Amino acid sequence: MDRKELVAYFRSLDRSFFVEGDMKKYAGLDGPLPIGFGQTISQPSLVLEMTRLLAPAKDSKVLEIGTGSGFQTALLAKMSAEVYTVERIADLMEKAQKRLELLHFSNIYYKVGDGSRGWQEHAPYDRIMVTAAAGILPDDLVDQLAVSGRMIIPIGPPDLQELKLLTKTASGNIKMKTVEFVRFVELKGQYGWGK
Ligand code: SAM
Repeated sequence: MDRKELVAYFRSLDRSFFVEGDMKKYAGLDGPLPIGFGQTISQPSLVLEMTRLLAPAKDSKVLEIGTGSGFQTALLAKMSAEVYTVERIADLMEKAQKRLELLHFSNIYYKVGDGSRGWQEHAPYDRIMVTAAAGILPDDLVDQLAVSGRMIIPIGPPDLQELKLLTKTASGNIKMKTVEFVRFVELKGQYGWGK
């Protein structure tokens, strides 16, 4: 991954485009902001850091769980070949898709549903990013990660999670390390915190 390209694109992205109404005037702050339905657009510095850690390559196929506003999706789509993004709230997905189409992305595929189970049809993925707090490491996502692939996922209770970076070795084993403590909204669904 070309870090200079990542930072340049991150700086060029207008975050106010990804939020609505009154929230636009707070878009320059380095913090999460409400996007409706009890969900948030993530803190920009954390979006950048998670993308840097995931390190997608130009030929990577990426799975993103939790499309939200589409801000993180744009960064992933710029830095990789294809992004498969899953969001459980149809209204959020509709808005995110419109924004990303206005930005002329044609390498993003959208699905409304329980992303804690991944998107089996297009697996395996070279990179997987989860942007909501999982209760446990979802087996389905581990299965859908390609050999030598990387996954970044916050795991832990709703008040504080450990951001985990995983790699899958050639023998199929998982190596996992904790990067930092974070606070994300809850991942719902089979591997999350309820329906
Ligand atoms: N990265 C996004 C952005 O920059 O706008 C913010 C993502 S927000 C912190 C987490 C998102 O995960 C929410 O939109 C929420 O609806 C979604 N989500 C939670 N559980 C999910 C699930 N099981 N499948 C798909 N999306 C889920």
